Order: sequence, then structure tokens, then C-alpha cells
Amino acid sequence: MDYKNIRLFLFDMDGTIYLGNNLFPFVPELLRLIREQGKHYLFMTNNSSKNINGYVEKLKKLGIDATREDFVNSTTVTVNYIKKHLDGKKLYVFGTQALKDAFIAEGIDVHEDYSEDIEGIVMGFDTELTFKKLDDVSKLLTEKDIPYIATNPDYVCPTEYGYVPDCGSIADALYNATGKRPLFIGKPEPAMPLYAIEKMSEIDPLVTRENTLVIGDRLYTDIACGINAGINSMLVISGETTQKMADESEFKPTVTVKDCSILLDELK
Ligand SMILES: [Mg+2]
Repeated sequence: MDYKNIRLFLFDMDGTIYLGNNLFPFVPELLRLIREQGKHYLFMTNNSSKNINGYVEKLKKLGIDATREDFVNSTTVTVNYIKKHLDGKKLYVFGTQALKDAFIAEGIDVHEDYSEDIEGIVMGFDTELTFKKLDDVSKLLTEKDIPYIATNPDYVCPTEYGYVPDCGSIADALYNATGKRPLFIGKPEPAMPLYAIEKMSEIDPLVTRENTLVIGDRLYTDIACGINAGINSMLVISGETTQKMADESEFKPTVTVKDCSILLDELK
């Protein structure tokens, strides 16, 4: 791969630029160098907008000055999808109040009660989940054939003690009840990197799919996302994937490397 030609770097975070609370030592210089060369990077996460402040804080603690604009998150990309494909539709939103507020702020017609004229369903990771919502959406999915999208396909979300069910698990519960699955927006679906490319090319018209690189440590999210979006992907063996797992996987990245330090070496 011609690393010098890459103009947009889409980084996963945990396992890619840090591991837990340890920043990989070459990362600050790498990020600085990318921008010094007039190129761009973004951090791509399946998390919602609400959690971005936490990431900004975390990166700050680790020594990286980031702003909210440095992140592509599932809320922003879902809003973009709704505006493009479900504009003006009456949507049942299965999600937290924060998610509904974010949609309302964008002028989206948000509803939280079943009614016969609902025209689409949008689901997020809902920490305010109630049985009423499961009942409403089961009824809508059973009775109607309407667009149904969900922010992210993750099965679990980490907590201090382990995991809780995330959006993908609730989608599975609804599938068991209704036989219907949502269109997911987050990784490994292609919407997120394609949105990042579109947005960045408004700032820098030289950014294209061909010179964008997805970098991550997970084969079935980060690398699959790159493949699904038709863009180059770099697997790093600095997180949860081992070389053996990479060798045996159906997901083949453009390149597999030990960690992101290769980028620093190549860009210098
Ligand atoms: Mg990761």
C-alpha cells in the first residue's frame, strides 16, 4: 500500500491508538504529522454523540488534544441517514431521551408512542429501555412494512463489571418476536466511513474513497467496515486480534501490521 498517498485516516480507538488507559507512545507524533502534512484523521466510533465528551476527556488525559469535531459517531451518521432517506417521515424512536433530543434538534419528527401512521422506526442503544417500547415496536414491525434502522450492531457494551446488552442484542430480541432485522448504521456497515469521506471532502476535495484508510484492531467491525465501504483497511495486532485470528478470518484487510507505528515510519 502507498501510505504516503493516504489523505484521510479513520482510526478506531481502543486497541488501535490506546489499550485501556495506555496510549501507544508513537500516537501523538503520528497524529501531529498527519495534520502537518495537510492530511486528516478522524476517530470512528459506534458510540452515540452523548458519549463523545467522555472520549474527548479520555484522550485529553492521555495527552491528545481532541475536539468533538474529530469524531464520527453513530448518532451523527444516523441523523445524516434519516435526512437523506427518511426526510419528513413520522418516526418512532426507540432510544434514550438524549437520542430523541439530538434528533429533535435536527428537525426530525420524533414519536414515542405507537400509532398507525408511524412511517419508520429508529433504534439506538437504549439505557432507558422499557417493555412498552418493545411492545410498541413489535406491533409496528408485525403490522407494517416500514423502514427500520438501528444505530449500531454491537451486542454488548462494556461496564466496570463486564457487559450489558447493547443495541444489537435488543434488535435480536425483536427479530425473535417479529422476524425483522434493522438496517444498522454503525461499523461494520459502510455508512460511517462513507459519511466521513463525504464530510471531509467538503473541506478537502482531494479526499476520496481511494485515498482513505480505515485502521482498527477488530476484524468483524473495523476491517469488515472497510471492506463493505470499498476502502483500504489496516489491521493492527495491538488490540484484541492476534495474527492467528487474522490468518484464519474471512475478513481480509488490505494490510496487517503490528501497530500504527508503521504509519509514522512511512509518513516521515
Ligand atoms: Mg478497537
